[in-house]
Amino acid sequence: MASIGFIGLGNMGGPMAANLVKAGHEVSGIDLSEAARQRFSEAGGSIAGSVPELVSGADVVVTMLPAGRHVEDVYCSPDGVLAHARPESLLIDSSTIDVATARRVAEAAAAAGMMMVDAPVSGGVGGAEAGTLTFMVGGPDTAFAAAKPFLDIMGKSIVHAGGAGNGQAAKICNNMILGISMIGVSEAFVLAEKLGLDKQKLFEVSSTASGQCWSLTTYCPVPGPVPTSPANRDYQAGFTAAMMLKDLKLAQDAAMTSSASTPLGAEAAALYSLFCNSGDEGTDFSGIINFLRGNMG
Ligand code: NAD
Repeated sequence: MASIGFIGLGNMGGPMAANLVKAGHEVSGIDLSEAARQRFSEAGGSIAGSVPELVSGADVVVTMLPAGRHVEDVYCSPDGVLAHARPESLLIDSSTIDVATARRVAEAAAAAGMMMVDAPVSGGVGGAEAGTLTFMVGGPDTAFAAAKPFLDIMGKSIVHAGGAGNGQAAKICNNMILGISMIGVSEAFVLAEKLGLDKQKLFEVSSTASGQCWSLTTYCPVPGPVPTSPANRDYQAGFTAAMMLKDLKLAQDAAMTSSASTPLGAEAAALYSLFCNSGDEGTDFSGIINFLRGNMG
């Protein structure tokens, strides 16, 4: 059994770390929030007093933090992971962050002689709790092979997407498809309403025709056709509009720096920004259908 240090015990990190405990590993964690620390203690984890204390005895360090600046600080500051972890430690960053920061931190880890992967996830809090996340992993083959047994505990689909930063690249490309397709599906239902076409009929046609996609068949933005979608519980998140906006902005930043043309990605980011600014950042991202109908706030 491994000794694991887990940094960031929030909505995602808490249940992910709890699954590592359940699998029999010795997991110690750290978080700025007292509530998150408390929940992790109740799940059987121990709490460390500082990052150096947490990582100096760890075989594996996992981070699940809000954004690139937190990740860079936690790894690269003088009190951070790279200055205090053992050279043979395996480092796994599962936060969703920008590709450039992921590659910079991976380079610093390699310079310190440590194996590192970026391993962002999809599957949300439900997937984190059930241990069924999808991991998109970037890093050298040896680091991927070392990380896989631990990712297998927290997820059910583990994809090696290439070298450092490619896990983040896969994540933002996927979520750009998702943001655009949710707007497309929502626009079709709004148009159908105006034309007097019943939503169930549109669903019956498009779910088996060329308009078929995940936003329609698994996460349908109108109540009824897919009983488990957030539309049936007044758009309670799920995956918030704020999270979608974060990922669309990361995709736009990456498109800018790599000179990729992503006009629909840019439009999706603009629409989600308007939706969030109208007071709906905590709403499920499929609630954008109400914004497109003109029902704001
Ligand atoms: P969260 O805000 O619930 O958790 C982040 C935790 O990190 C917080 O508890 C915070 O106190 C802690 N933290 C911040 N800085 C810290 C530091 N310096 N040291 C220790 N702890 C620190 O967020 P979350 O929903 O768990 O998301 C985490 C990451 O997962 C994000 O990058 C997010 O984009 C990604 N993600 C989230 C979801 C989702 O559905 N929530 C889905 C996929 C990916």
